[in-house]
Amino acid sequence: MTLTTRFAPSPTGYLHVGGARTALYSWLYAQKNGGDFILRIEDTDIERSTQASVDAIMDGMNWLDLPWTHGPYFQTQRFDRYKEVIEQLLASGNAYRCYSTAEEVDAMREEAKAKGEIEKYNGLWRERTDYPEDKPYAIRFKNPLDGDVVIKDMVKGDITISNEQLDDLIIARSDGTPTYNLTVVVDDWDMKVSHVVRGDDHISNTPKQINILIALGAAVPEYAHIPMILGDDGKRLSKRHGAVGVMQYRDDGYLPEALLNYLVRLGWSHGDKEIFSREEMIELFDLKDCNRAASGFNTDKLIWVNQHYMKTLDPAYVATHLAWHMAEQGINVENGPALEEIVKIQADRVKTLKEMAQISRYFYEDFTELDASAVKKHLRPVVKAPLLLVKEKLAALTDWSAAPIHAAINDTATELEVGMGKVGMPLRVAATGGGNSPSLDITLALLDQQKVLARIDQAIAVVDARIANS
Ligand code: GLU
Repeated sequence: MTLTTRFAPSPTGYLHVGGARTALYSWLYAQKNGGDFILRIEDTDIERSTQASVDAIMDGMNWLDLPWTHGPYFQTQRFDRYKEVIEQLLASGNAYRCYSTAEEVDAMREEAKAKGEIEKYNGLWRERTDYPEDKPYAIRFKNPLDGDVVIKDMVKGDITISNEQLDDLIIARSDGTPTYNLTVVVDDWDMKVSHVVRGDDHISNTPKQINILIALGAAVPEYAHIPMILGDDGKRLSKRHGAVGVMQYRDDGYLPEALLNYLVRLGWSHGDKEIFSREEMIELFDLKDCNRAASGFNTDKLIWVNQHYMKTLDPAYVATHLAWHMAEQGINVENGPALEEIVKIQADRVKTLKEMAQISRYFYEDFTELDASAVKKHLRPVVKAPLLLVKEKLAALTDWSAAPIHAAINDTATELEVGMGKVGMPLRVAATGGGNSPSLDITLALLDQQKVLARIDQAIAVVDARIANS
């Protein structure tokens, strides 16, 4: 039998990092075992489900490159099937019509509470058949009255719940629509899901689902409940903590490899290894090695992983992601160095690709504004002579590459008997508009020679203005 996992998000918002991690663990486990991975959209909550969320979920999965082998299935397209199973449960005596009103059910709970008993439906309609006419009714599952349900959880170990604790849960509302626990059970059964990987916020649903599966004569899958992700305040990660939607991480300049690697480690470990290629993840990941306790989201660590991948992945590949950010920032990269070259010189200078794009604009666009503090510090009257001389030497170069450029700067300093910095810094401000750039010779070599000369003129004009004002 093929091992089958699934990711079953409700499309009521974007794909957040918790969901992405669940999807990753499900996907990895299927990959590792040569199994299938299903995407199932649990859109039965019509009011809260949106097409935009469905798109966001798929965008996130695609960006992270977690391809599903089956689906996407949509629960709203399976209502007939849910009806059929509800009928089956009624026919086999595993479900019953419940005519109790909401007020009556509340009263039952209050009564149980007053007696110090478990607050639940008291089973009033469990065995009754004296149905009132034309009255709405819900359908409840006849939960076993005694015995235990054991969840053999691959992460948390065995969890035993006594049936006495469990309610006769509603499987169909009075308008006939099925409830979450019923749809999940039918789907996991029909889709032959062998391993349910999900957040441990669902753990209280699991015994209910197991009981329904047993009543249906369906195989009970293995379960792996993954602990929550917490924000830096120790509370469950949510929108309050800032960027938690997967695509926000793309927008913020993270590589999908970095987010995946960060997420795989957030809740799972393999010795003290931190960096995992996709192949390594597939080989080494196992559900049983997941942490039992919640993990805290740590942006600094994500940044560290992102820097690792920006520096070590093939620059040509990183450049494809940088291209997206350049476009996003309106930088036309047609006239200028290949983005791959930018990646090579900027990767160890930034935290994100967004930042890389921001600091690389001068490679593609001329500017008239220069950084004010860099001007103040480095374009003083005394630098006019070095700028003029270095311009002359740079203009004379026939081989516009790093080594001769370096020599031209060096020779200027030697001739004027000043330190390299007295030539290099003004030149850097002239060529890039600011006081920070990668190694100057390489930076200039990536720029067009005529462009550099024109920018030196522009800087000399700034110096002249200062001289005139002093
Ligand atoms: N649709 C549920 C959710 O998004 C997940 C259900 C499941 O994995 O069983 O929380």
